[in-house]
Amino acid sequence: LSDEAQSVLDEIEEQNVDFLRLQFTDILGTVKNVSITADQAEKAFSEGIYFDGSSIDGFVRIQESDMRLEPDPETFAVLPWRENVEGGSSARLICDVFDTSTGQPFSGDPRGVLKRAIDRAEEMGYTVNAAPEPEFFLFEEDEDGHATTKTNDAGGYFDLAPKDLASDVRRDIIYGLEAMDFDIEASHHEVAQGQHEINFTYDDALSTADNVATFRSVVRAIAAEHDLHATFMPKPIARINGSGMHTHMSLFTEDGENAFHDDDDEFNLSETAKSFTAGILEHAPAITAVANPTVNSYKRLVPGYEAPVYVAWSDRNRSALIRKPAARTPAASRVELRSPDPSCNPYLMFAAMIHAGLDGIEQDMECEDPVRENIYEFDEEKREEYGIQTLPSNLGEAIDALEADETVQDALGEHVYENFVEAKRQEFQEYLVDVSDWELEQYLEKF
Ligand code: GLU
Ligand code: MG
Ligand code: MG
Repeated sequence: LSDEAQSVLDEIEEQNVDFLRLQFTDILGTVKNVSITADQAEKAFSEGIYFDGSSIDGFVRIQESDMRLEPDPETFAVLPWRENVEGGSSARLICDVFDTSTGQPFSGDPRGVLKRAIDRAEEMGYTVNAAPEPEFFLFEEDEDGHATTKTNDAGGYFDLAPKDLASDVRRDIIYGLEAMDFDIEASHHEVAQGQHEINFTYDDALSTADNVATFRSVVRAIAAEHDLHATFMPKPIARINGSGMHTHMSLFTEDGENAFHDDDDEFNLSETAKSFTAGILEHAPAITAVANPTVNSYKRLVPGYEAPVYVAWSDRNRSALIRKPAARTPAASRVELRSPDPSCNPYLMFAAMIHAGLDGIEQDMECEDPVRENIYEFDEEKREEYGIQTLPSNLGEAIDALEADETVQDALGEHVYENFVEAKRQEFQEYLVDVSDWELEQYLEKF
């Protein structure tokens, strides 16, 4: 066993862990668990754990269903909210998935897809840092414990108690996250009623993607302890702000320098950062399919609610797709992609973003000047004059864009790409034939 694996075994002993949840995510970003007893941990590290992949969305065909999970010892964490009956605790380990017939990493494993993107960056001499800003709503549950869209507070942006009744819940969520080794930087009430944001420190892209997956389950579990439903649905309530997951990224060189920083540049951004930005702008329509993968995602990407609609970057305003946030130190120079929402699969989204940015660097793409005006207020003519494209306006258009973009397809790899497109086409088709409440309200009595 490796030293890391050995120290996990010691911790299992010390912390009285009875059960281990081996976790991985499917293509749609849902976390899957295989539970083992703690005495199987050694075997899990030395041989892996075999499971049937045929029942996981987008994984494999029935006839070739054997998969092997290899736990990553660095992801060991005791779950803070789950006491076992006998008083022992449960822990989780995030796993890589292997194909037993070839012994190779399974090409349908989103974590493997991200690792491939990180490897490409490494070959070019960079490590990738990422930090997300996941937003979510807390809603009340009804008598049967089902989620409603009723918020339990009337707070607004940065409001303090007593208006912010949910701050107790948020505090408990933060304790839970800290117990799982999250380094929480800030938390605040967001613009909309019942909406919250919790920020954690940046880390390498793989750890951050793992963190996003963990974050969503911790937030949901602790909200549920307060009889609240936490949702990462992008736009649960029409005509108020939706929930985004802005993603900050930068590349560091092997000697720990921030390759995105340039003291002499007006925006403190290096040529590398600008080409990376240009790459993301170039591939933005196709990235949208991955960053905004639900029908509902497109109800958020409309003008007027601080969510991006137009493909441009800015050093100031929040109507642009990419923003250069103010940075106090050279290490903090980074770009912020504002389109992603928290319904996305973070592994695939980061992978798409990294490959698109690296493509920009490899091809020496040039970045236009930043747009400093409020683009929401531009008319079509003005957008044309500035050469500003619009993001896909629905899931169908986003998939069309993905089907036209080989860079983002390659980022996903053939297996994930094909399964993703198939699932999303079907989802969009189901939506198109559905009859909504809005239609009934508009037409039922009118015609
Ligand atoms: N909730 C906004 C969105 O949908 C973002 C608000 C903010 O700038 O934090 O992206
Ligand atoms: Mg926010
Ligand atoms: Mg932000």
